[in-house]
Amino acid sequence: MSDTVPTGPTTQSPAGSPAGSPAASPVGSPVGSPAGRPVIAIAGLAIETSTFTPTRTHAEAFHPDRGDEVVARYDFLAGLSDAADFRGALIGHALPGGIVARDDYEALAAEIVSRLQSLVDATAVDGLWYDIHGAMVVEGLDDAEADLLGRIRAVIGPDVIVSASMDLHGNVTAELAHQVDLVTCYRMAPHEDAMETKERAVRNLVDVLTTRPVGSQRPVKAWVPIPVLLPGEQTSTRIEPAASLYAQVPAVEAEDGVLDAAIWVGYAWADQPRDRAVTVVTGWDQDAVAAGAERLARAFWDVREDFVFVAPTGSFAECLDAALAPGAARPYFVSDSGDNPTAGGSGDMTWGLTEVLARPEFRSADGPTVIYASVPGPDAVATAVAAGVGATVTVTAGAAVDDVHAGPITMTGRVHAVKHGDRDAETEVVLQVGSVYAVLTTYRKPYHHEHDFTDLDLAPRQADVVIVKIGYLEPELFDMAADWMLALTPGGVDQDLERLGHHRIARPMFPYDRVFPSAPDLGARIIPPSNEPLGAIA
Ligand SMILES: [Zn+2]
Repeated sequence: MSDTVPTGPTTQSPAGSPAGSPAASPVGSPVGSPAGRPVIAIAGLAIETSTFTPTRTHAEAFHPDRGDEVVARYDFLAGLSDAADFRGALIGHALPGGIVARDDYEALAAEIVSRLQSLVDATAVDGLWYDIHGAMVVEGLDDAEADLLGRIRAVIGPDVIVSASMDLHGNVTAELAHQVDLVTCYRMAPHEDAMETKERAVRNLVDVLTTRPVGSQRPVKAWVPIPVLLPGEQTSTRIEPAASLYAQVPAVEAEDGVLDAAIWVGYAWADQPRDRAVTVVTGWDQDAVAAGAERLARAFWDVREDFVFVAPTGSFAECLDAALAPGAARPYFVSDSGDNPTAGGSGDMTWGLTEVLARPEFRSADGPTVIYASVPGPDAVATAVAAGVGATVTVTAGAAVDDVHAGPITMTGRVHAVKHGDRDAETEVVLQVGSVYAVLTTYRKPYHHEHDFTDLDLAPRQADVVIVKIGYLEPELFDMAADWMLALTPGGVDQDLERLGHHRIARPMFPYDRVFPSAPDLGARIIPPSNEPLGAIA
């Protein structure tokens, strides 16, 4: 899942002070800026990409921020401006999607490198905040985040302290862990702590630069790969066992000599050798970070059999039957999860809407009110806009890029609403077909908030059934839903992982393999700093 949930003001306290370390010494204090504050550059590309959809992601999807725009994007940086000077290079955050086209990646990476080169030419850079997701697949690259950081290191040098913030659905290879000095990830799914996590990554970086115990000492990193690969919908921290598992993270972080502790679930919808769960603990005391990383990895492994879907599941037909059953709660939410655009689905599939429109219950306008969000169809949107609200139109939408399970859908309906100016969708229209209110967009868009619907003159709280291309419900939808089922629908982010078929992941891997020839090695691997060779780590 991606952090598309805006978060309110954070109340994060500095979590990164080097507890238990020797008294802070000014030796090695950074003097990058004229004011004596450390200079921290900011760069990164964030996306999660399914390798099971034919969609390709291009550069503009990252909505890049450059220079001062980068610093302005994050309010919490203003609160740290007395402690460090922040200099933006380029960051990009894309909606999840298909593999990133190689030329587009090369263009973005080259711009990041060039902007950092200009920065390095102008001033000494002490630190870099690497603002990434961790599940970006680029054509021809198996570890894009390590590749990009390698290019960044080639400019800033091996000694600059790098702190990465990630999504817990990202992947941390030994190579990526080697290139960073600090790395952390969200502790909540849904990611209500996204901004708090980024702030923690930056505060830890500032703390290391300003209070490292001895000279240019670098944090110790303990990394433990866990042979488990599960979908986010089975690992939400709203429910057990993930709730209790993630509740153990702050206790590890609070240990003497530990700066940060993190657990990655990993990303399940890419077929890559790096996909699996991982723990990383960073700090000053090698024994403490190793023990912490092992403790969290062991805890994860021990509960592997206990992960279950976050909501009752069924086929799409079973979910619609449940939603329409006499006495069913209203509004009844159904997640059309196989094409969830915030997990990496194309968002372009028509399979779900086709099934809905085929149901006899919804043929008449006085049938049960159903909201379906959404299918992209630029031509359909243009036709509806030209005709205007109230007009009846026949349009064709969807499956322009992902027609694996169903082709473009043609429907005749009344234009219920038109809205321009959405950051993702650009233009949205609602077409009423029978009792179904189908949301059509110019470009794909996730529907996570009540206003996403009410802005379209829809009343989800009064609807009988609300169907959204999503996995676990984001908080506002969760609050609105009187009941909810997760439909195991086909698509690029099919929740039935074994049906999807992985060929390149490491084996054995739970749950693909339930019998392991020997117990997995959950011992901590101490990853050397980036200015020393990685060596053989597996
Ligand atoms: Zn996520």
